[in-house]
Amino acid sequence: ISEYGIPQISTGDLLRAAVSSGSELGQKAKAAMDAGQLVSDEIVLGMIEERLKEDDAQKGFILDGFPRNLSQAASLDELLAKTGQPLQGALLIDVDFDVLMKRLTGRLSCKNCGAVFNRYTSPPKVENTCDSCGHDELYHRADDNEETIGNRLAVYEENTAPLIGYYDEKGLLKRVNGVGEMEDILNAIKAELATI
Ligand code: AMP
Repeated sequence: ISEYGIPQISTGDLLRAAVSSGSELGQKAKAAMDAGQLVSDEIVLGMIEERLKEDDAQKGFILDGFPRNLSQAASLDELLAKTGQPLQGALLIDVDFDVLMKRLTGRLSCKNCGAVFNRYTSPPKVENTCDSCGHDELYHRADDNEETIGNRLAVYEENTAPLIGYYDEKGLLKRVNGVGEMEDILNAIKAELATI
């Protein structure tokens, strides 16, 4: 993403930061996150609206994990119409649920730079140390346990999957096979982004 010179804005990251800061918003979001349910649209939209006002987002941005349902998508369209920055594409990275389960139950993330590893399939070279930035604190997300992942995948099917049709109808949908070597997947994503 650094290649594109625009920020990756993840509602999950923003929410986790709010939870660890102990803010009122974080306290409201925590129960839904722990259960693998969606946090209320009101909270998430407020956060996105504020984040998109920051300087680094004026030339463009990649939204990660947002929108998660049709109502968020409609609100996003309204928001971006106001700011004159309409969406240029929506990327679907297609991965079967059983593969996702393995990726999530084994996921380790760097506390400092967010780089992601997997205990089983792509462990860091030195235990508990980030290959990218050298920081020595990798963590496993509390919601990356089988029960919560099961809920998250059910929520995806019911609430998020309808976005595929929504963006397809608008001619914005880009689809990439998300199973295979990381480098191949990255190249496929870059090729799709180059068509925008
Ligand atoms: P993620 O980091 O994208 O996997 O999100 C982790 C959790 O944060 C989700 O399971 C939801 O509880 C919450 N969350 C993240 N993004 C959204 C969103 N756009 N709408 C509602 N809840 C969200």
